Amino acid sequence: MPQQGYLLIADIAGYTAFLTRGELEHAQDILSTLFHALLDNTRYPLIVSKLEGDAIFSYAPGKSFVNPQILLETIENLYYVFADTQEKMHRNTTCTCTACSLIPTLDLKFAMHYGEFLEVNIGGSQEISGADVILVHRLLKNTITEKTNVKAYAYFTKASIEAAQLTEMAAGMLPHTENYEHLGDVEGYIHDLKPVWKAQREARRVRVDPEKADFIVTRDFPIPPATLWDCMLKPEYRNIFNSSTKTDYAGLKLGRVVRGSEFHCYHGKRLTRQTVVDWHPFDYYTSEDSTSMMLMNGMKTVYTIYFVSNGENTSVQLALGSPTHTNLFMQKLLNLMWKNGMGQMFYQEISKGMQNLKARIVEDLAAGKIAQAVLINHVE
Ligand SMILES: [Zn+2]
Repeated sequence: MPQQGYLLIADIAGYTAFLTRGELEHAQDILSTLFHALLDNTRYPLIVSKLEGDAIFSYAPGKSFVNPQILLETIENLYYVFADTQEKMHRNTTCTCTACSLIPTLDLKFAMHYGEFLEVNIGGSQEISGADVILVHRLLKNTITEKTNVKAYAYFTKASIEAAQLTEMAAGMLPHTENYEHLGDVEGYIHDLKPVWKAQREARRVRVDPEKADFIVTRDFPIPPATLWDCMLKPEYRNIFNSSTKTDYAGLKLGRVVRGSEFHCYHGKRLTRQTVVDWHPFDYYTSEDSTSMMLMNGMKTVYTIYFVSNGENTSVQLALGSPTHTNLFMQKLLNLMWKNGMGQMFYQEISKGMQNLKARIVEDLAAGKIAQAVLINHVE
């Protein structure tokens, strides 16, 4: 039976020129390091379908992404891995051969499409095929770099933008139409990856070190990090985690939660502002919370939630730091209160929230409401 889903190709650009111009031995080592870094990080919800020389072809079932930004972040993360690996290799080599000096000329490009495909068994291995699979492969031959000078990019077809509800985020991308023989015009958007990577790399790290945290709450969840991250963006799940009655967003960038965005969680009339001060999908994020409660005005609590991949599961670790206050006198009072029960109270609240969230996720997973269930059903 045909299925619907996302089709993604990650392709190392400059590969051929690199192999023909560079000393073969080092050229192959370099490409193999980059390729394996990518392959190791092509994780659920992406399923690797086929390795194609310098490219990795993967796909994800149609319901794999709940929040549109998760799809973008999945691709951006793969680019970060590539760019970081590339930079490290370039920095660490003292070799002056042509291959080693050409490391910075390699780039990564993605083509993403949404459509129909069939699973077929070819020589004992499961592959997918269909007209849309052919189309996404054709997309690799394009005039993007030539016309826009963008070298590292993700090209999303209009079909994939619509399926993933990325229309608002696509406003920050470059519209681009490509014409193919027999296929006609393919409309889409170019997401330039280099500036995104630069911004992410230059962003200040704000993390509560678990070893220096006042309290640590840990819990294992039966879903992979990207799926849990996806769930925790949803107001429905945030309300369970925060014991709140309503959750709003503020400071979104083209509809996307980024560093600086806020979750507003309401407990009846009381409002807690959770400001995202560091955002590293799907590894960790740091939140700085303040509340509208009179006595706590000026007080801030900071915590980092780490998502550690553990096979198909995620070990979550929330590291809670000491609260701060803008007023020096209040800070001293707060320190005293924190040591004498208030910290413990926060810890209990967070533990309870995390436990409730886990219970709900286990329940929804069993009911087939979470993407992981899609994957399990789909294998049958
Ligand atoms: Zn070399």
